[in-house]
Amino acid sequence: MACVYLVGAGPGAPGLMTVRGAELLGAADLVVYDQLVPKRLLDFAHPQAELICVRDLPGLHPDKYPHIYAKLAEAAKAGKCVVRLKGGDPLIFGRGGEEAEAMRAEGVHYEIVPGVTAALAAAAYLDLPLTHRGHTSAVAFVTGHELPQKPGNKLDWAALAKFPGTLAIYMGIARLPVIVAELLKHGKDPDTPCAIVERASLGEMRTITSRLEELEVARRAAGLEAPGLILIGEAVGHRQPKSWFEKAPLFGRRVLVTRPRHQAEGMIRKLETLGAVPFALPLVAIRNVSDFAPLDAALEQVRNGNWDWLVFTSANGVEHFLARLFALGRDLRDLGNVKLAAIGAKTAEALKRFHLIADAVPSEFSSEGLAEELKDRVRGQRVLLARANRGRELLNIELAKVATVSQVTAYEQVDAVDANGEVFGALRRGEIEFVTLSSSNIARGLLKHFDETLKGRVLRGELKLIAISPETAKAIEEYGCPVHTVATVFTSDGLIEAVVKAAA
Ligand code: SAH
Repeated sequence: MACVYLVGAGPGAPGLMTVRGAELLGAADLVVYDQLVPKRLLDFAHPQAELICVRDLPGLHPDKYPHIYAKLAEAAKAGKCVVRLKGGDPLIFGRGGEEAEAMRAEGVHYEIVPGVTAALAAAAYLDLPLTHRGHTSAVAFVTGHELPQKPGNKLDWAALAKFPGTLAIYMGIARLPVIVAELLKHGKDPDTPCAIVERASLGEMRTITSRLEELEVARRAAGLEAPGLILIGEAVGHRQPKSWFEKAPLFGRRVLVTRPRHQAEGMIRKLETLGAVPFALPLVAIRNVSDFAPLDAALEQVRNGNWDWLVFTSANGVEHFLARLFALGRDLRDLGNVKLAAIGAKTAEALKRFHLIADAVPSEFSSEGLAEELKDRVRGQRVLLARANRGRELLNIELAKVATVSQVTAYEQVDAVDANGEVFGALRRGEIEFVTLSSSNIARGLLKHFDETLKGRVLRGELKLIAISPETAKAIEEYGCPVHTVATVFTSDGLIEAVVKAAA
């Protein structure tokens, strides 16, 4: 619907956006986001949505605002669904109120979706209560951006110094010495426990705690910079040395995910909840075959009962094979009595999503396992392999020894690595510790871009390569790189388990 939705993105972790916010992001035609909103959240936007960072709109702060309002109003009046994505909550130091006012002035319909504000995220992820029956009866959200000596200043530091609870000061790092001085001047106890939190809710979260009087010294010693949140009050004194989040098995560890984009999300989410700082570098892209004729012919043969067995080597194969069947206006009855085989549980699961049960799922996640297990069952029969345009020939070769085998390309894998992009830069600069490699193709796709610097990092053990299976490990070793850990369960969960083991 034509509407401007002022959506709170929360503090950064994608799981902390509201269901309503995520739903709107997924439906928006236009997303206008603040610079501080983590890029990661934009993964939830509709793939066709136009994404605009306010930084790229004309005007310099604060003259930028009329341009933002104009953009929002213009798009909404053109019938678009517009999401204005703001960090934390839109109405807490987010100028959401002013944007709503501007939409009213333009006669544009709007809705506001609240978000988890930084102070609440900081408290939860530091595991400290903002209020407490025993000692803290109030919380104040305070901006530290106003200069105390600024004319028209609304902050009453004398009142804040006497405030009977926790002070959560936003945008205060740059003015920390002034803030501390004002509070002390007005009688705040120099021993009051304080914390500064940077990037609360994310794997990069950093925290210091100190007495009020020494807060600036402690901040400088730790090198904490803006933006960060300052918490002041008795409640901070009840903080545990390490919060539940700081104790998470991958807290702060930097992990690269190399799966194709549409398959990376689940893995990234899991890494995030384990406290990791995930990076995504898709190395292969999955797409439709450029020429459908051979696939269409194979589908026709299946319908005519020309094959006894249909073998899928990946979930992508299942999805593309069946998508084409449906695109031709046909349905599952075309599969008739053909028997189905699936490499690995994930492939079998993909079949299940289409209400198909695999007749054979090899116990081993590898072509060798499937070949051995299948050989006996397909002996003397006709077998069609639905697969990617590239991959190992082993299955084809082995089965052809005992059966009539043909292959059809159901989807294409193309190299998609951006060796000059941001993530590759992070690899080169040594900002990533673990690289997860979930197939031999992916391993080759990455390692062929490794220069001496990167290989050196691997050899010195600074960059750790984690392989999903012995087969992938072999592909890695072909490039002269040692494998740090091989997963014992050959799935993406197994791969994450291997990272956890390597990180311990
Ligand atoms: N509307 C936002 C606040 C915007 S003002 C909200 O409700 O959270 C920007 C300030 O918010 C930053 O200067 C910092 O003080 C604080 N902030 C936002 N996200 C944060 C995070 N993840 N960790 C710590 N502080 C954060």
